[in-house]
Amino acid sequence: TNNGLNQKKASNEVITYLDPTASIDNRVKDLMSRMTLEEKVYQMCQYVGLEHMKEAEAKISPEELEKNDALGFYPGMRSGDIGKLAEQGKVGSFLHVVTAKEANELQHLAQKSRLKIPLLIGIDAIHGNGLVSGSTIYPSPISQAATFADDLIKEGSRQTALEMRANGMHWSFTPNIDVLRDPRWGRTGETYGEDPFLVGNMGVATILGLQSKNFGGNETVIACAKHLIAGSSSINGLNASPTDVSKRTLFEIFLPPYRRAVKEANVFSIMAAHNEVAGLPGHMDKFMMNDLMRDRWGFEGFYVSDWNDISRIDIWHHVAKDFKQSIEFSINAGMDMNMHGPIFDNHLIELVKEGKVSEERVNYACAKILETKFRLGLFENPFVKEKEAQKVNFSKTHQQNALEQARRSIVLLKNDKNILPLSKSGTGKTIFVTGPNSDNQTTLGDWVSPQPEENVITMVEGLKSIGEANGYKINYFDSGDRSKEITDEQIDAAYTKAQASDMVVLVLGENSFRHDWKRKTTGENIDRATLKLSGNQMKLADKMFELNKPVIVVYVSGSPIAEPWLEQRAAAVINTWESGAFAGQANAEIMFGLTNPSGKLPLTIPRSVGQLQMVYNHKPTAYIHKYNTEKKTPLHPFGYGLSFSKFEYSAPKVSKNTLSNLEDTVDVTVNVTNKSNVDGEEVVQLYINDQISSYTRPVKELKGYKRVAIKAGETKAVTITINAESLAFYDKDYNFVVEPGDFTIMTGSSSADKDLKKITISAPSLLMLEKA
Ligand code: BGC
Repeated sequence: TNNGLNQKKASNEVITYLDPTASIDNRVKDLMSRMTLEEKVYQMCQYVGLEHMKEAEAKISPEELEKNDALGFYPGMRSGDIGKLAEQGKVGSFLHVVTAKEANELQHLAQKSRLKIPLLIGIDAIHGNGLVSGSTIYPSPISQAATFADDLIKEGSRQTALEMRANGMHWSFTPNIDVLRDPRWGRTGETYGEDPFLVGNMGVATILGLQSKNFGGNETVIACAKHLIAGSSSINGLNASPTDVSKRTLFEIFLPPYRRAVKEANVFSIMAAHNEVAGLPGHMDKFMMNDLMRDRWGFEGFYVSDWNDISRIDIWHHVAKDFKQSIEFSINAGMDMNMHGPIFDNHLIELVKEGKVSEERVNYACAKILETKFRLGLFENPFVKEKEAQKVNFSKTHQQNALEQARRSIVLLKNDKNILPLSKSGTGKTIFVTGPNSDNQTTLGDWVSPQPEENVITMVEGLKSIGEANGYKINYFDSGDRSKEITDEQIDAAYTKAQASDMVVLVLGENSFRHDWKRKTTGENIDRATLKLSGNQMKLADKMFELNKPVIVVYVSGSPIAEPWLEQRAAAVINTWESGAFAGQANAEIMFGLTNPSGKLPLTIPRSVGQLQMVYNHKPTAYIHKYNTEKKTPLHPFGYGLSFSKFEYSAPKVSKNTLSNLEDTVDVTVNVTNKSNVDGEEVVQLYINDQISSYTRPVKELKGYKRVAIKAGETKAVTITINAESLAFYDKDYNFVVEPGDFTIMTGSSSADKDLKKITISAPSLLMLEKA
């Protein structure tokens, strides 16, 4: 470490940790050599921002606040405490700071502390920096997954990092790489769907966009892979309730995206999950946090708890006698930072003094947090220019990416008699538009604050501007705002108004809009016991079908809707998920043929909740028998989505038919012809099946895809390359291996058998990718 700077320091009093030319390693060491145990522990403390706290306090009565304390909502803390803590250097990080102004104010307070350590400001920038008003709202993660366009998502994430940094924020609590196996979970829209490979790709793209592999400087932020692990598959579909999956399922389904987030993208933070798995709360799971992620897979960053979850080890899970013991268990398992709440610091300091937690653990955590701050340049300048932030937020290039994502994420589920696109010569025709999600910000999805109206194109606004330009009359009726609130009177009124029209566009779905707690029907902590439309929406739809006019249904929802009878009667069904700020424009472009739909389902849409768990990559025996009153096929399979073009696939060809060693690759090539007279984009998909294996394996697993533009009449050769990792799985000792044998390669336009053509390759000998 003696690189000359230290010597200079001795003679000229240069402080190494404040010297930007010193190595990060030396700066961290120098700073830590000046810190007391207490100060190191303070770096491990995170609190909610001042304004957020004030806002929350203002909404709750004193009695309610007391009650919430018992549940651990804002335990024992009030807004008045927050600023003082920052000034005293007792805070390492804040979350939920939602303006550049507040970020600066808090940093100013931190500069009054003894060591002037800047604050690391974290925020849930899940699809854009959405909690900040005026930022670019990209489509929700479930929409992003439906694009199968990794590069577009990576670029959007890079833009989000720029908006965050311009506003003084340095750490995004995304990507949520929970593999979604139960769409009752209200957070479905926050995920990238049911497939480990797709989730892994989207996760890696997001991390590389936000953070890059070797993050640093003032244009990157750190990412956070969450939540470790398997909260997306709780036993009853409810958030934070127990998960009980096998070690095998963890390794095959839930963990692969984490492995890749660490190995391929060097994600610098991971958040533990609210839930227990097989009796062990995520926040004290040493095997997961330490042995697997750190020791086996090489995670080099730090862990943050989820909201209050260390304290929940005792108050919810009852596996520790009190908060102090919960901290002991959690920190010893590998936890590095506590998300919100007092007394954590005092308890941890005592635990170290009592020898129950080693000082090395605290040193490790503190060093990682400081390293982040040094790498992000915060010691050089923790402040931002508030005026600059206005220029970066919602900038033109960011808008363009959000729009491109929206266009590619919309999934056309049904198009009877090719009713769509609507003819461009619709002069004189009237389209009646109604439904709870047609003229509000529900399209923005979860983790978004209300946005300036001028930044959002609602469905009606999009239909009006593009429909009218095409000669249609758009007649809108507000049938009740958001899905819970449609009355019988409104339904009757809608029916009367609709009579004078030629067709109906019904904008239905759910509502995950965070600032609309009372009316939310899905999202965090609002889980579903049915996959049907909430409230009176079906009543409204039934009434519209009575008109005997074509009804085009648009679902706005982060979670899938299972309404087979509705779909049967609709002329067209568009699943737009949550398309962000440009939802109205992108949907109208599709309806009037300016954009050819190309989104594909990132999850299976079941017919009913009783079919759960329903996933395309199920084990061979899942459908040997049948249900007494339900079909065993999905309403729509994974990977499905219609286009205005008609694509025809040749059988796949391979560059060679054996994969013999770890470096080997096989190119799989398929010819795709656009047999229509419209240019289009197609997502070519590749699945594998291990024909005979030592443990049962899924009937198919996605292992590659490519989004390609194919002009009318054109044929394109599309090549997807697979390697040993594409064929590997975990053996009886949890080594990651390719077992010798034959593998079926399937290529086509969706995961449904009828859409896939096959070829076989083989692996002649055992390949060891990773030893347990
Ligand atoms: C969620 C996390 C989120 C955190 C901070 C928790 O309730 O589970 O995903 O990052 O809150 O907002």
